[in-house]
Amino acid sequence: VGVEALVRWRQPGRRLLPPAEFVPVAERTDIIHPLTRHVLRRAIAQAGTWQRAGRPLRVSVNVSARNLVEDDLVDAIGELLDAEGVPASLLEIELTETTLMANPGRAAVMMGRLRDLGARVAIDDFGTGHSSLSYLKRFNVNTLKVDRSFVSALPESSEDRAIAQAVIVMARSLGMTTVAEGVETPAQLEALREMGCDEVQGYFIGRP
Ligand code: MN
Repeated sequence: VGVEALVRWRQPGRRLLPPAEFVPVAERTDIIHPLTRHVLRRAIAQAGTWQRAGRPLRVSVNVSARNLVEDDLVDAIGELLDAEGVPASLLEIELTETTLMANPGRAAVMMGRLRDLGARVAIDDFGTGHSSLSYLKRFNVNTLKVDRSFVSALPESSEDRAIAQAVIVMARSLGMTTVAEGVETPAQLEALREMGCDEVQGYFIGRP
């Protein structure tokens, strides 16, 4: 049903750098701005290729807290979608709870503008940040992504099962789609299916 754009840094002659080793550095500098634009450009171009091939797929792109201050980001996203002929409904922008809480006012503005554009909005890594449940109501998001930390010990951990189940039920009641992250085994997939989780992602489905 969809894919998530995940950035890696391929340095000539050296090992492939995972995002944890350079995205936090980029986020502390202005480099996060061109990096996010680059990922958006590549992801939307790929969505256009799939769209023209008659196999439209939803594409998710992660956006950082520092991107929230870019007044022209949503306009730029709209232009990229137009240029590639991709319906906005095929693009989902992911913001972590930490990002939302870093600047709730700016986050609400950006999410509203993305929704006006017709794009989808997801809260990423849900359950690990410090957000309040009242923000779920205020932000009006499409998708809640259940953090992998509640998935990895499924189905054995009764605590994680209780938390995952509660999040899935709450999200459904609020009209949101749930996506479980970090699914690596058939047993995890089955447990999440039984809980009513809408979608899953992770190594069991497809490797980066
Ligand atoms: Mn994500």
